[in-house]
Amino acid sequence: MRWARTVWEEILDALYPPRCAACALVGCDGWCDECANSIAYVTPPVCARCGTPVDPEGFCSSCSVHPLVPEAVRAVANYDGVIRAAIHRFKYEKHASLAPALARLLNQGWQNSLTEPLHAADVVVPIPIHRQRERERGFNQSALLAREFCRSTGLSLLPDVLERTVYRQPQVGLGEEERRENVKDAFRVVKPQVVAGKSVLLIDDVWTTGSTLNEAARALLSAGASRVFAYTVAHEPLDAW
Ligand SMILES: [Zn+2]
Ligand SMILES: [Zn+2]
Repeated sequence: MRWARTVWEEILDALYPPRCAACALVGCDGWCDECANSIAYVTPPVCARCGTPVDPEGFCSSCSVHPLVPEAVRAVANYDGVIRAAIHRFKYEKHASLAPALARLLNQGWQNSLTEPLHAADVVVPIPIHRQRERERGFNQSALLAREFCRSTGLSLLPDVLERTVYRQPQVGLGEEERRENVKDAFRVVKPQVVAGKSVLLIDDVWTTGSTLNEAARALLSAGASRVFAYTVAHEPLDAW
C-alpha cells in the first residue's frame, strides 16, 4: 500500500505540481521563501478582546465601546499582500488544495503567546457558508481550514453543528452597519446538545468588522455554549476600504 500511495502521489504531483499558495510558483509545497518572508504577521501588543495591534496594551478604542461577542478573537496576519493573494486564490479561484498552506499559519500561530486566551476552547466550529454558496464554490473554506487545524492540534472538530440559514450577498464591499444587517440571525445551531456547556473556537479565513463572528457567537451562546472564541488566518480592518 505504501508503494501504491507513493506512485499515486507522484502522479498527482506531475499533474498538479505543488505551487506557492500566494504567487503560484511551481515546486513550493506551501509558500515560496519570498512570500513566506513577506507575510504581515500580527505582533504584540494587541487588544485583549479583538487582537488588533494597540499601544499600550489593553483594549482598542472600538472594543472599549462595542466589544465583540466572542471573548477573544485572534488573527495570524493582516489581510494584505501575499495573504490577500493566497486567500483570493483559495476562495474565489476555488483552489481547495491551498487549505493546508493556510492552515499551517493557524497551527504556527497556535504556538504563539498571542493565541493563549483561545486555548481555553475545547471544540472547534468552522463558520458555515450557505448550502447554495457551498455548491457554487465546491467547498466551505472555513471547514477545510478547521479540519486541517484540528488534525494538527488534536482539538475536536464539530463540522455540522452550526448552519447558515439565509442566503445573502457576500460581506465584501459593505460598510459596518450593512454588514451587521446582512448577517443578522443568519445562523442556527443544529445540534444544541453537542455545544451545551462547551468552550467553542470559531474558525474562519478572514474577519473584518466582526459582524459574522458576533452573530455566530450569539447563536452558539444562546444554544448553551459556555464560552466562544474566534481564530482566523487574517484580519482586514474596515478602514482599509
Ligand atoms: Zn510565492
Ligand atoms: Zn479591540
